[in-house]
Amino acid sequence: MPRQSGSRFPISQRVLLALIGSIGALSMNIQSAALSSAPKRIVSVKISHDPVRRAEDLRDLASFDILGVSLEENLAEVALEQNSLDELKEKGFQIQFSPLNAQLQRENLEPYFTPTEVLDTLSSLSQNYPSLTTLRTIGITRRKRPIQALFISAQPKNQNQPTLLFNAMHHAREVMTTEVVMHMAQVLLNGYGTDPEVTHWLDSARIILVPQVNPDGNQFVHEGQNMWRKNAWETEGRSFGVDINRNYPALWGSCNGSSPNKSSDSFRGPEAASEPETKAMIELVLSERPIANISYHAFSEMILYPYGCRKEKNPSLELFKSIGAEMKANIVDDAGRKGTYALGTPPELLYEADGTDADWQFREAGVLAFAMEVNGRMQGFQPSHKRWRDVTVARQEEGWKTLIRQTLQQGVQGRLVGRSLAGVSYRISRAENGVWEDFTGEDKSVKPFRTRSADGFIFNTLLPGTYQFNIYQSDDLKKSVTFEVSKDQVTQLGDIRL
Ligand SMILES: [Zn+2]
Repeated sequence: MPRQSGSRFPISQRVLLALIGSIGALSMNIQSAALSSAPKRIVSVKISHDPVRRAEDLRDLASFDILGVSLEENLAEVALEQNSLDELKEKGFQIQFSPLNAQLQRENLEPYFTPTEVLDTLSSLSQNYPSLTTLRTIGITRRKRPIQALFISAQPKNQNQPTLLFNAMHHAREVMTTEVVMHMAQVLLNGYGTDPEVTHWLDSARIILVPQVNPDGNQFVHEGQNMWRKNAWETEGRSFGVDINRNYPALWGSCNGSSPNKSSDSFRGPEAASEPETKAMIELVLSERPIANISYHAFSEMILYPYGCRKEKNPSLELFKSIGAEMKANIVDDAGRKGTYALGTPPELLYEADGTDADWQFREAGVLAFAMEVNGRMQGFQPSHKRWRDVTVARQEEGWKTLIRQTLQQGVQGRLVGRSLAGVSYRISRAENGVWEDFTGEDKSVKPFRTRSADGFIFNTLLPGTYQFNIYQSDDLKKSVTFEVSKDQVTQLGDIRL
């Protein structure tokens, strides 16, 4: 895309820029000065249609706060500090007025869940459905707010069932994401005993919902910092915040996909996993061993899978693509169309991102971890609740239901049995033209799978094919098991004695 030189804006655009300036000034009165970030304005910036040049454009914009993109319109919505419009112009970008400036108004936010309302609602749900739910606090934030997980299963004591994880709001301003996961809780709990598919899921699986990973940040948003993305990490008496979704130890700070600068909206934190929110999610995943996950984000109408760094090779790419394609086919976008969500890795669709939760979950625990970017550019982070909340959560239902169906219906199940399962792990290879191809990568970059140690339960979603489990105890190969997976079937291996 040829870029215009910054000084040559036609008159219509200069009028727009003046308009943008006045809106920015207006928003200064609305936003409190409690946090480190200056008041912001939002502009729509033209980006290239070509994926490689688009990534370059977005990298050039990385010193600003990129809210989301429209791959259809080739526009990025970018939030700027009061005085940095000139900087953007000097870089030669074409700028348009953004419809999202209206969302800098606080009133828009009111009907969306606050951190207190999330806790209250989860508590009532767990009281109303005591046989189906367990409510656990998985971490405490810097501002002493609990991060809660709702465990849903009709057989909570049965250890031999696969677990699925859904979480929302790593990023504080993405208020629709919490709505999606709170709605999921309602659908699952109301559906048990009335909806045959939901009943089957809760009879045979365990679903963990973390509707709000970042309550501290969300509190800032509700207090008027609408564009607050990070958590409440403080230094020098100011809340700079850490981008929790750049703070995970996998590939942390490794591909320029985050910032070392504490004022940046993608600040990766002083060290990997420095944040209580990150630690809470890590501990949850390592203890519960989910087979799949969706992390809800906004906005851009995209389904993302690992890796966020271009140079990393995903050894389970075919499986991610297959499940992702099914989700894409079933989700309806904001314009009412099916099958339009973009599907790919962050560098393919956007830019490189390191230290993300999906990368960490896949690399460290073999989780089929996706990030879902809900809503399009016209809706942004905080669309009218009245107009968009119910529509969005209903449309997202088809996405998470597809993930549950796809991951539970095809693969392998069994149980490792031995005197001690301490230090037991396994790798999966697939026969590819007579060669065993390791699902954990040629370089073994993906850690071997582990079971929830007490029970030895194994469940892996796999594409049809011939596979081998290689089971290790403290790095010694204890046993190999070969098996077939057929379409839409779960191969039962029963007890595997070590
Ligand atoms: Zn996000």
